Amino acid sequence: MAKTIIVSNRLPIKIQKVNNELVYQTSEGGLATGLGSIYKEGENVWIGWPGLYVENKSTKEQIVDELKGNNMRPVFLTEDEIKDYYEGFSNETLWPTFHYFNNYAIHEENLWEAYVNVNQKFCKEIIKVAEPGDTIWIHDYQLLILPQLVRFKLPQSSIGFFLHIPFPSYEVFRLLPWRKELLNGMLGADLLGFHTYDDMRHFLSSVSRLVSLSHTNGQVDVSNRKVLVDAFPMGIDYDKYHETAASAETLKREVRYRSSIGNSKLVLSIDRLDYSKGIPNRLKAFELFLRNNPEWRSKVSLLMVVVPSRDKVERYKELKEEIDELTGRINGQFGRLSWTPVHYFYRSFPLPALSAFYRMADVALVTPMRDGMNLVAKEYIASKLDKRGALVLSEMAGASKELLDSILINPNDLNQMVEALKTALNMPAEEQEHRIGNMQASLKKYNIHHWVKIFMERLHYIKEKQKRLSTQLLDDQIIDDISERYMNAGRRLIFADYDGTLSPHTDDPSTAGPDKELLQTLKILAKDPANRIVIISSRDKTTLQNWLGHLPIDLVAEHGVWLKEADGEFHTIDKIENRWKYEIRPILEDYVGRTPGSFLEEKDYSLVWHYRRVETGLGELRMRELTSHMKYLAPNMNLQVLDGDNIVEVKSLEVNKGKAASRWIEKFSNADFIVTFGDDWTDEDTFKAMPEHAITIKVGSAPSIAEYRIQTYKDVRKFLRTLANNGKLIKEK
Ligand code: UDP
Repeated sequence: MAKTIIVSNRLPIKIQKVNNELVYQTSEGGLATGLGSIYKEGENVWIGWPGLYVENKSTKEQIVDELKGNNMRPVFLTEDEIKDYYEGFSNETLWPTFHYFNNYAIHEENLWEAYVNVNQKFCKEIIKVAEPGDTIWIHDYQLLILPQLVRFKLPQSSIGFFLHIPFPSYEVFRLLPWRKELLNGMLGADLLGFHTYDDMRHFLSSVSRLVSLSHTNGQVDVSNRKVLVDAFPMGIDYDKYHETAASAETLKREVRYRSSIGNSKLVLSIDRLDYSKGIPNRLKAFELFLRNNPEWRSKVSLLMVVVPSRDKVERYKELKEEIDELTGRINGQFGRLSWTPVHYFYRSFPLPALSAFYRMADVALVTPMRDGMNLVAKEYIASKLDKRGALVLSEMAGASKELLDSILINPNDLNQMVEALKTALNMPAEEQEHRIGNMQASLKKYNIHHWVKIFMERLHYIKEKQKRLSTQLLDDQIIDDISERYMNAGRRLIFADYDGTLSPHTDDPSTAGPDKELLQTLKILAKDPANRIVIISSRDKTTLQNWLGHLPIDLVAEHGVWLKEADGEFHTIDKIENRWKYEIRPILEDYVGRTPGSFLEEKDYSLVWHYRRVETGLGELRMRELTSHMKYLAPNMNLQVLDGDNIVEVKSLEVNKGKAASRWIEKFSNADFIVTFGDDWTDEDTFKAMPEHAITIKVGSAPSIAEYRIQTYKDVRKFLRTLANNGKLIKEK
C-alpha cells in the first residue's frame, strides 16, 4: 500500500546521552502532534536528524533499531555537517535572510556546499524507503532543495513542501548568491505551502523574476509539470491547549505561581531567544510604559520567558546580553521590595507551566519583528477558558492575518506598543470576551488537524490534475495510431498555428522566423499531393509571406483577415469595418507613453500593444489596466480584446481563426484526415471549428477543448517529421 513519508530536519523525538545511556523524549511540538496521526500509521515513516552527534557505529545501529518501532528513520550528521549545514547555512544564511535580517546573513560557498551535501544525504534516505505511489512531505528551510533532488530520482512521486518561516520579498531574496538553485530546488515539489498569502506572493514573484516562470492562479508550469503554490496558515492542537488549561496540574501551578507573584496584573512574553522575536523592543516599550504611566507601577508585571536557543552563535550571545541588560535596567529603575517589574526566566517550561502562565496573563505581548506564524499567540487564546485577556500582536507575525481581534501593532513603533498595552490592560470585560470568543472559534476550526488534512487534499488535487493532463499527452503509441490514419487517408488537411506551436515565442526578429529544419519538414509534407498545409497565425501577412511564402502551403494572417492559397495571392474575403481604430489607437498610444519598453504594432485589421520588454510587474499591471479599460469599450464597438504572450491585441469580432479554418473545411470537405495544432487561446476557435473526426492537439498545459496535448513546439516538429517520414516514428532524444 502507498505510504506517506514525512521529512524534516529534526525527528519528532529528542535523543540525549545521559550517563552513557540513550534517553528518548518525544516532541510535543505542534508539527509532531499534527503529523502524529500520519507518520505513526502502518508503513508510514518520518525521516530526520535525531538531534545529537553519534560517532559510534553500534550506537547508530541501536538508534536505527529503536526508532524503527516508532516509524522513524534517522539521518546521522557529522559534527562538520551540523556546523556548516545546520548552524551555518540554515541558521546563519537562510534564517536571517528569510526574516529580513539580511545584513546578519553570511554568504559562504563552503556552507552552501555542506547544505547541498546534507540535502543529498536526506534524499538518499528517502530513496531507500520510497516506492511508486508514495507521498513525500518535506518540511522547512533546512531542506529547500530536497524536492528537486527527490524529483530527479523519482520523477513520478508526489511531493509536498511546507515552509514554516516567512518567504521574503523578492528584493531581499535576490540578495542570496544561490537564489536560483534554491527556487529550482523548491519547484521540484508538486505543492508548495506557505503560512500566508504574502509569503506565497513573494515566492511567486521571485519565481517569475529569477527563473522566468509565470503563474496562473498560483499554478506554475515547470517543465510541463503543474506546481501548485498556496497558503495554509498552520493551526494548533486547539483541544490540547484548551483541555490542559482545565487540568488539575495547571490549576495547582497557577495557585502556586500566584502566591509568589502576588495580585498585580500580568503581561506575558514567551519566545525562543532570537533576534526575529523583537524582545529588546518589547522591553523598551514596557520601560516606556512604566515611565509614562506611573499609576501602573506596582500594579503590573511582565512575566518574560526566553527559551535558550542557538546560544553558541555570537549574534545570539549578544542578544542574550542585551536582554539581560535591559531587564536589569528596568528592574533597577522601577523595582520595589514588594514589586518586581520584570520576572525573567531564561529556560524552557513544560506545557502545564506554560498553560498556567497563559491562564494568568491579562495581556500577551507578542511582538516579533518577523515571524512565520507564531504559535504562542494562538496557544494563549486557546487557553483562555474564561475568555478574559487581551492579545497585543505584531503585524509582522503570520498569525496577525488570522487573529484580527487582537490589538495589532508595528514592533518598531514603541509609542504604539505603549498605547496598545494601555488599551489591553483597560479593556472592558465584555470586549475581551467578544474578541477572544471570535478568535477561539476560528482557531478551533482551523486547527492543526485541519491544516494537515487540507494540505494533503490539495496535494492530491494537483497530482490528479497532473494525471488528467498527462493522460491526454500524446505518447509514441498514440502518435503511431495517428500516423497510421495519416498513411491510410486519401486527402489530408493539416492546420497549425505558428508562434509557440511551430516555433518558440519571441519578438526578436533575428530568431523569430522558421529555421532550416522546420522549412524542410513543411516542404516534404507539402510535396505530398494528398496534403494541404494551412498555417493560421496572428502575424501580419508580410511577415508570413517572407517566412513561408516560397513554400507550397496555405497561409492565414492576422487571425483570419488575410488568406492565401499556396499558388495564389493574399486576399481578404469580407470588407471589414476599420473605423474603430481612430478611437482605440490614441488609447493604446497613451499606454505606450506611460510604459517605457512597450510599443504599438498596427496590423491591417487589428492593433497590438507589446510589453515583453517592459519591467517585470509593470507590464502585467498595465496589461490588466488596459484589458479592463477595453472591456467596457470593446462589446459596443464589436471588438475583441486578446491578451496573449506579452501582448494585448484589439481586433474586430468578425475575424477569428475558426472562421478562417472553416473555409478550408468547407472547400476540402472530402478530407478524411484533419489534424490541427495550437498553443494559445485564439487557437481554441480553430479547435471549435473542427469536424468531429478531426484530431485537435494543444501545445502546453493551459486549459483547452483539444483532444490531445503535446508539451512544446519541439514535440510538434517531431510529430510532423514523423508524418513526413511516411508515418514512421522518429526515435530521438
Ligand atoms: N514553548 C515550550 N516551552 C517553553 C516556551 C515555549 O514548549 O518554555 C513552545 C510554545 O508552546 C510554542 C513553541 O514553543 O508551541 C514556540 O513556537 P512559536 O511559533 O511561537 O515560535 P518558534 O520558536 O517556532 O519560532
